This record gives sequence, structure tokens and C-alpha cells, in this order.
Amino acid sequence: MHSHQPRLGLLVIVSGPSGTGKTTLCRQVCDGVRAVFSVSCTTRAPRPGEVDGRDYFFLSEDDFLARVDRGELFEHARVHGRWYGTLKSHVFDNLRRGVDVFMDIDVQGAAQVRACQDELVRRCLTDIFVMPPGIGELRARLLGRATDSAEVVELRLRNAEAELRHWREYRYNLVSGERPRDEARFKAILEAERMRSSLVACGGDAW
Ligand code: 5GP
Repeated sequence: MHSHQPRLGLLVIVSGPSGTGKTTLCRQVCDGVRAVFSVSCTTRAPRPGEVDGRDYFFLSEDDFLARVDRGELFEHARVHGRWYGTLKSHVFDNLRRGVDVFMDIDVQGAAQVRACQDELVRRCLTDIFVMPPGIGELRARLLGRATDSAEVVELRLRNAEAELRHWREYRYNLVSGERPRDEARFKAILEAERMRSSLVACGGDAW
């Protein structure tokens, strides 16, 4: 058997309430060569230190909705009162080229991607829900981030409770705790998922 069978990229959806460290987990495994983080579009304002094109593409509401009309978005949803969405151009070519794509998106966006009938998406998709260890812990982490106002933190906590009801829709559940342990578990999931037979590209039939 070939040791380097050509394979499709893995499409990894990672969801979970804000403050569970899911963005950090995704970013850490994305080297930009074999794995890329899908930079989303949003209509929310940048937080201090966030860079346009690296953290998000920060768009006006008009620009965002025009892109939706032109069919440029793979999925999109309103989260915490703002629009968020993934550009198709960040997904399909990468998967065909064998590059893994990580999408840090909410439960509504995840449902849209799961409902997608595209053969490539169906073969490549996997999903992980990152759970906070408890709501008290989540509140502490969100407050500790100190980039959001008290009202925003409260809104995010309320939304977190609604979001948490969806954990069963995901193949994997990662209860976050200590950072090194979370990373190790996240990587273990990816290592197994990368061996899925559905990822073996056409023409990779070595037998
Ligand atoms: P934040 O404003 O904290 O960066 O993100 C808020 C929420 O929006 C997070 O749960 C994040 O996963 C979600 N989100 C970020 N980008 C997208 C996207 O492109 N699509 C959807 N559906 N949700 C997103």
C-alpha cells in the first residue's frame, strides 16, 4: 500500500460557547500549509488587538448582505445580534487540495453545513463541540478576557446556555479543562479523523 495516499482535506467544525478556548485550539493546529483556519466575515466591531483579515473580515452590514445575495457564503448566521459567515472560497479548493479547513462557527452555522448535500463536504466533514466545565467557570473566563463589557458578557452567557443544548448534534464532545490536556485531546481526535477512508481521494486506490 502507498504510504502517501492522496487524501482530501478534513473539514472540521468547532463550536461551543465563547470562552471555552475553541478558537485557540483551532488556531494552534493550523500551520497555514496542511491546515488552515477559515477566517470568517462578521459585522461586529473589532476587539482591541484584532486585525482585519487575520481574525475576521470586518464588514459593514450592507457589504455582508450583498455577499450573501451573490452566493459567496458557505454558511451564515446571526450570533449575539451580529452577522457571521464563512466564505466558500476558503473551503472547497483547500479540501480538494488535501488541506484541512477549521471552521470556528456557532450551532446554527454548523447545522447548515451538516445539511449541505455537496459530496465533497459530506466526505470531509467532522464536528467537535467544546463544552465548558460549568457555567460558573465560563462566566469567570469571559470576565477574565476583559475585552467585552458587562452587558456583552451577560448576553454571551445567556446565549451559551442556549448553545449548550446542541452538544448532542456533534460527533465529538470535548469538555475543556486544563489547556495542555484540551490540546492533547483535540489533536487525538484529529489524528483519528485524518485516517477516515472517506478522505482517500479518487485515484488513491493502491490495491
Ligand atoms: P466572537 O464574536 O466571540 O468572535 O464569536 C462569536 C460566535 O460567533 C462564536 O461562537 C463563533 O464560533 C461564531 N462564529 C464566528 N465565525 C462564524 C461564522 O463564520 N459563522 C457562524 N455561523 N458563526 C461564527
